[in-house]
Order: sequence, then C-alpha cells, then structure tokens
Amino acid sequence: MKEFVHRGQITKVVFGSGTRRRIPEEVDALGCRRVLVLCTPDQVDQAAEIRDLLGAAAAGTFAGAVPHTPVEVTQEAVARAGSVGADSVLAVGGGSTIGLGKAITARTGLPQLALPTTYAGSEMTPILGETEGRIKTTRRLAEVLPRTVVYDVELTRTLPAPVSVVSGINAMAHAVEALYAQDQDPVALLMAGESLDALARSLPLIARRPDDAEARADALYGAWLAGTCLGTVGMALHHKVCHVLGGAFGLPHAETHTVVLPHVIAYNAPAAGEAMARITRALPGDDPANALFDLAGRLGAPRALRDLGMPASGIERAAELVVRDGYWNPRPVDRSAVHAFLTRAWAGERP
Ligand code: NAD
Repeated sequence: MKEFVHRGQITKVVFGSGTRRRIPEEVDALGCRRVLVLCTPDQVDQAAEIRDLLGAAAAGTFAGAVPHTPVEVTQEAVARAGSVGADSVLAVGGGSTIGLGKAITARTGLPQLALPTTYAGSEMTPILGETEGRIKTTRRLAEVLPRTVVYDVELTRTLPAPVSVVSGINAMAHAVEALYAQDQDPVALLMAGESLDALARSLPLIARRPDDAEARADALYGAWLAGTCLGTVGMALHHKVCHVLGGAFGLPHAETHTVVLPHVIAYNAPAAGEAMARITRALPGDDPANALFDLAGRLGAPRALRDLGMPASGIERAAELVVRDGYWNPRPVDRSAVHAFLTRAWAGERP
C-alpha cells in the first residue's frame, strides 16, 4: 500500500430530513446565544423559518448574500453582526451564503453553523473565495470551516430541477478531481467514488421529479462527500479552468463546472486510468468524458460556454490564464491543448 496522509475534519455533521429543527440544540451546544441568520434575497422565507425556530437566540437576519462574496457585502454584514450583538452566524443557503459566513468568521472570529441548500459543498471546505473590485482571490483558512453543518434534505426540495442538476454536477467535479489528486488518500478515494455513485443515480430522478425525497437524500449525501473531498485533498486543472472562467468572464459557477468537466476528464484520461475506471463504475459508458457529456444533455443542462455568456474572443485569454501559474495536474497542462478543449467547450461540442 502507498504511504498517505489523511486530514480529518473538525466539523460536526448532522444529516437527515427535518434536521433543521435540531438547530437550536446545535447552537446551544456551541455555547452561542445570539445568532445572525444569513441568506440570499431569494431565501428569506427559509431563513425566516429558521429564525422562528431559534426564538430568543435569533439576533437578526442579513439577507444580502450574493455570489462571489464581494468584500463590500461582507463589511455590511460584519457591521450588522456588531450592531445586533451576534455571537455566531448561521448560513441558510448555498455556496454564496456559506461564503459570506466564512468571510464574516475570518474577520470577526464568530463561529459559523451552516444549513446547506445546494450541492456546492463549500460548507465542508476551509476555502474562502472573495471578490474585491473585479478580482477574485482564494485562500485556505482552517478557522473558516463551519463548526456545525446541519444537512436537512427537506430544504433542498425547493431547489429547482435545472439548478439541482448543475449543482450536482458541480459536486461531481470535486469527486472527480479527488480521484486523481496528488495528495489523495484512501478515505478521500472512497468518499469520491461513493459520491459519484450517489449523484449519478439521484440526479436523473431529481430532474424528473424534484420533490423525490429519496433521490434528494441521495444527492445531498453525495454532495456532502464531494464537499469533504474538496476540503481535504487538492484540486487540479478542472477547478483552475472554472476559477479562471468565473473570474475573467463572470460566468455562473455551477453551470461552468457542468460544461467544463467532460472536457477536463477527456484531457486527463490518458494520465489517470484508475480514476477513469472509477468514474465509469458510477457512469457506465464507452468513456467517462462522453458519459458525463451525455448525462448533462439528457438532464437538460448547459453544454456550451457560449450559452453561459462567454465571448469567443475570450478563449485565447482563458487558455493563457489557465497555464499561467504552476499547479499539479495528472497530465502536464499544455496551452494549445487547453485552447483546443476550451474551443470545443465554448461551442458545445463533444469532448
Ligand atoms: P448560490 O449559493 O449562489 O445559490 C444559487 C441560487 O439558488 C441563489 O439564488 C440561492 O438563493 C438559490 N437557492 C439555493 N438553495 C435553494 C433552495 N434549496 N431552494 C430554492 N432556491 C435556492 O449557488 P451555489 O452554486 O450553491 O454556490 C456558488 C458560490 O459558492 C460561488 O460563489 C462559488 O465560488 C462558491 N463556492 C465556494 C466553495 C468553497 O469551498 N469555498 C465551494 C463551492 C462553491
């Protein structure tokens, strides 16, 4: 057996259906008494329910979370936390809201709890991405990991089917890159494979019936595992490409992951045979890149970067940015090959 290092996580995870009702006891277990509830403007109703559950322990709601964690929004939220005397924050939402919670924790030290409602997985990672001006930077800070994550399957049932599909494929991307991570360990490999199995079987069911409770539970379970992979092992070319496209062209997060992933799988396939075999176990087919491309097509997900608003003129610059910094990838990253697969991804062609 190969040598390995495995990093365990400090986050307490509560998983189930209706588990949001356990939020008051989880807040209490952390010794917190005044919780600022965070959400996006779209999720004020879900946040209001949690606020009611908290009763006297609710210090207020900040409903201004937006994608990419702009520092101006964080500053406003930090000021709110101060003015209401909050001793903790509770993010009710997806990666945008959880990102805001992390940014508040990074500045104030307030502990965060999270109730994730998408499959993005931010709640299980120490990664904090923030935007200032038009520049997005990312850092790893152990202290921004939520102390407690409560997964309540019921809260995910309102996530519209198209958003669920792309969010689920976003989670699959974490699992795929964990399978060939440079610092992979046996536990991360098990989690990644199990995550892909759960997401591959549940997403088609959710696309047909978004309120299928069993499928929702399976998908959230897969998303938790994928998020844990993202938080514990290093990512590679796929995450780099998506970071570049999101930052340089403002492309939507989960949709970008969905379009790019089959192309990066095809690129890395010759150098990551075992990873490809594991993806094929979850997504049977002649080759894993096409199996994923076909899955996205069957589920009505976007498959072309041009449909996400990327200009054709941006391909050149994106390829340049993708190869600019050195980072590990199972196959050396070659500029002309990146340019070629970005061109196919832009047009929506097969990987
Ligand atoms: P999001 O949080 O922006 O949510 C997308 C939209 O769906 C929002 O309007 C939200 O209010 C709505 N929504 C969420 N859950 C819902 C539900 N159950 N019912 C109805 N509507 C719901 O999107 P996301 O894809 O979860 O997160 C994307 C952001 O998270 C990006 O900024 C990305 O960079 C970041 N992210 C960070 C990490 C990390 O480790 N730091 C990991 C993944 C994503």
